[in-house]
Amino acid sequence: MTHICERFDSLGFDNPERTYRLGIMGGTFDPIHIGHLACAEQIREKFGLDAIVFIPAGVPVYKKHLDITPAHHRFEMCRLACESNPFFDASSLEIDRAGDTYTVDTLRDLRAYYPENVELYFITGADAVFSIIKWRESSAIASLAHLIAATRPGYVVSDEQKADLLLHSDFSITYAEVTALAISSSDLRARVGEGKSLRYLVMQRVFDYIEREGLYQGVAHE
Ligand code: ATP
Ligand code: MG
Repeated sequence: MTHICERFDSLGFDNPERTYRLGIMGGTFDPIHIGHLACAEQIREKFGLDAIVFIPAGVPVYKKHLDITPAHHRFEMCRLACESNPFFDASSLEIDRAGDTYTVDTLRDLRAYYPENVELYFITGADAVFSIIKWRESSAIASLAHLIAATRPGYVVSDEQKADLLLHSDFSITYAEVTALAISSSDLRARVGEGKSLRYLVMQRVFDYIEREGLYQGVAHE
């Protein structure tokens, strides 16, 4: 592995004395919306993260049956969405890897690339937190990264559920409240299909890209 993303390839290398915190936000990002971005930014502040890298999934195993926008479009939208925030960047790590996408492989790649003074923080929304324990090599994931579960409207994790997660997994999950934005990529795709606007729900550059490339119009993807 020689390259992670444009902005943070040298994170941790210049000052071995200092600990750096790298946030990782995985997802399909079809498309990336302000719910993802606001969540990441608030988690960055709360946990004092030095950088956050958005890593669009290549072939998400659990979404294989669905019609997903080609990876290069999803990556480019992430890149455009991150441009105005110096703490954010997009990585094509998962889409460049052949075969199925597994979070554990991604975390291993990041761990192998970065020096020891870089700590990994894997960020997910509250809806994704329950599926993590079913993920391949979930205990390896837990040993590679700290897990942060952000609140997401419509997905409440009760105290009982939190206790249950603790009992049935090796995870220590930190729960964090972020401003509720009830936006999902599925809803946004449906909106475009219905001829409705995505303005203000995605970054302007992403909005322009979707229009320019004619994404989510119900036309066949090239
Ligand atoms: P889809 O509807 O296609 O599943 P999505 O909006 O859920 O799209 P994903 O790419 O599946 O987006 O999500 C990536 C990550 O971002 C997941 O961990 C998810 O929980 C989190 N996330 C998505 N939307 C929000 C939101 N509005 N607030 C907080 N977290 C979110
Ligand atoms: Mg989702």
